[in-house]
Amino acid sequence: MKIKNTDLLKECCYINGQWVSENSGAKMPVYNPANQEIISHVPKMGGDETRMAIEAADAALPEWKAKTAQERSEIMLRWYELMKENQEDLAILMTLEQGKPLAEARGEIAYGANFIEWFAHEAKRIYGDMIPAKSTSQRIMVIKQPIGVVAAITPWNFPSAMITRKCGPALAVGCTIVIKPSPESPLSALALCQLADQAGFPPGVINCITGDAKSIGAEMTSNSIVRKLSFTGSTAVGKLLLEQCASTVKKVSLELGGNAPFIVFPDADLDLAVKGAMLCKFRNTGQTCISANRFYIHTDIHDAFVEKFKTEISQLKVGDGFEADVGQGPLITQAAFDKVSAHVADATKNGAIIELGGAEHEKGGTFFQPTLLTGLIDSMLISKEETFGPVAGICRFSSDDEVIKLANDTNSGLASYIYTKDLSRAIRISEALEYGMVGVNEAAISSELAPFGGVKESGLGREGSHYGVDDFLELKYVLLGGI
Ligand code: ADP
Repeated sequence: MKIKNTDLLKECCYINGQWVSENSGAKMPVYNPANQEIISHVPKMGGDETRMAIEAADAALPEWKAKTAQERSEIMLRWYELMKENQEDLAILMTLEQGKPLAEARGEIAYGANFIEWFAHEAKRIYGDMIPAKSTSQRIMVIKQPIGVVAAITPWNFPSAMITRKCGPALAVGCTIVIKPSPESPLSALALCQLADQAGFPPGVINCITGDAKSIGAEMTSNSIVRKLSFTGSTAVGKLLLEQCASTVKKVSLELGGNAPFIVFPDADLDLAVKGAMLCKFRNTGQTCISANRFYIHTDIHDAFVEKFKTEISQLKVGDGFEADVGQGPLITQAAFDKVSAHVADATKNGAIIELGGAEHEKGGTFFQPTLLTGLIDSMLISKEETFGPVAGICRFSSDDEVIKLANDTNSGLASYIYTKDLSRAIRISEALEYGMVGVNEAAISSELAPFGGVKESGLGREGSHYGVDDFLELKYVLLGGI
């Protein structure tokens, strides 16, 4: 697969509007997870270059935040248009470095670009407040101002959208940003920077650093110029970064791991539930933080659901994301493959039954068979931890109270899904679930229009919707006297 716009393939970092290499020339390889071949190399930068990028973002801040919302919005909309024009190339780059089926990669580019378009318009709606004061000679004015320089650390599972989801609100309100993409998927990030450059963002407004995660992260979290860290990734790294941000009291947004329950009640439309289960479990090879991780199926419909689900899963074509009709690509790394294998082994050792799959796929490498397990119990690893792979584990339940207790019995609280035709049950259960998001008869819940985020250890803050700007703004109260 060849991209048409070769300018998008970058092997340098983007700092202060310049494409720069690491001083000593240190580089790190980028692999294609479908065949382990090296696609390209990117600089292996560290703390010093991160500081340079942060200082560039700081220098660019006064001019960027002084622009009118309309001016910022126009540049953002040009960026959005360029993403759309280059959708196919951006999708190819993504499939190459991340492995997801090309159709999914195209979908992610469109989805990711929407955050830029949506927030470009939201830039014009950063409203303040006037509050009646105690005295008639006073007014209380509340204004919202950009927090300042933002650091963004992003994962490999959505190499493009996790960046636009942070850049959208940050840039719209007048912040500048330094991005550290995942070492597994830096090419998508650098390609977005190339388009940002073309769109006309002033130098320093957007910067992107690839390299050593620990030293880049250490600089981002300790540098007092950075006023906000926005992170999407594992819970363990999120906790570490939150701790590291304490010394400079930064505002922190964390979008961490989930352990999503997918609950099907006896009155559900089973075909709809199976369609949702397929999307929710096998999209991106199960490597999303909102992937269903535990399936709770009411005992009355358990066997019928399993039968239908099994039929659908068995039709899933596994392969390189560029092959036609592929529905499931490889896992991102050997470590990811090992985790999935360990979860299946632990489940079967503790009594789960393999209905389908359960092992390495014949394609080898990090390809894993789409897997269906029944007889899931609470104590299994697969019930307790995010599997992040194409394994659906099913547990029976008999009552609403029982399933609410099971679903909430976790430290995670990102996404949850329920299938029922009973409106009052849908409302009761939605309110009882300790999750940031609930899909009712719907599995595709992510959108620029809605607040995405979790409770408990799944994170802090929300991305998307008009709530999404709050994390990048400071409130300022001005008391107007002598009126
Ligand atoms: P995953 O295990 O799914 O890759 P991680 O949380 O390790 O999730 O990675 C998410 C992002 O966090 C990546 O960009 C990764 O490089 C980065 N990261 C990992 N460890 C650190 C760290 N100690 N400091 C800063 N960033 C880190």
